[in-house]
Amino acid sequence: MTAPVGGLGAASAVLWDIDGTLLTSGGVAAQAFLRAVEEVVGRRPVLDGLEFGGRIDPEIATLLLASIDHDDSHVPAVLKRLDELVQADLEALHAHTRVLPGVTGVMARLVDAGVPQTVVTGNIRSVARAKLTAGELIPPIDPELGGYGDSGTTRVEVARSSLVAVFGDDWAAHADNCWIIGDTPRDLACAQALGLRCALVASGRTGVDALSGLGADVVLGGLGTTDDVARLWG
Ligand SMILES: [Mg+2]
Repeated sequence: MTAPVGGLGAASAVLWDIDGTLLTSGGVAAQAFLRAVEEVVGRRPVLDGLEFGGRIDPEIATLLLASIDHDDSHVPAVLKRLDELVQADLEALHAHTRVLPGVTGVMARLVDAGVPQTVVTGNIRSVARAKLTAGELIPPIDPELGGYGDSGTTRVEVARSSLVAVFGDDWAAHADNCWIIGDTPRDLACAQALGLRCALVASGRTGVDALSGLGADVVLGGLGTTDDVARLWG
């Protein structure tokens, strides 16, 4: 393994995942997703055996529809309804959204270091913005530079759209010092596919053991402990 170029303090940019990394929203958006599917096709999705961590919203909609024998032709209608349901109950989102421990401290250090920060998330743009607003994370997050579930058909495409927004068409020249911070193996796979660095934080549903040994630059229990943050900062 090559020696790291430097820690997060020397990053060219930081692309944060939202759910399980920056914040949790208490299942408000997840419940809206199930309701959206039910309203569009008239049947409640079956969740048995499905896992969604790190997937983008169009993929989740496809899986939910498939669980009740519907094809992906309904995906656009489901995502539209999801947006409407979330926007119609922003109060619930605000009441249930919690920024995870240590996040604002790391963000403040990045601001002091002059590092641009945005999001790479599976959430569609409007829902991502509602969550970030509920968490009072805009700024330091610049949502205009982000990649969203409706910015591409895969997480890699979503991230690439953010890289173009942050760095322009020569983004690859900045990739080896650009970090993705996420909470699932899919965040890491996305970073690896684009030559980005990656920190995985076990603040979501996946524990440190399951995140270790996959090739991330850093694996942390959370952002709330001084030792972990020191390792991340490098
Ligand atoms: Mg996540």
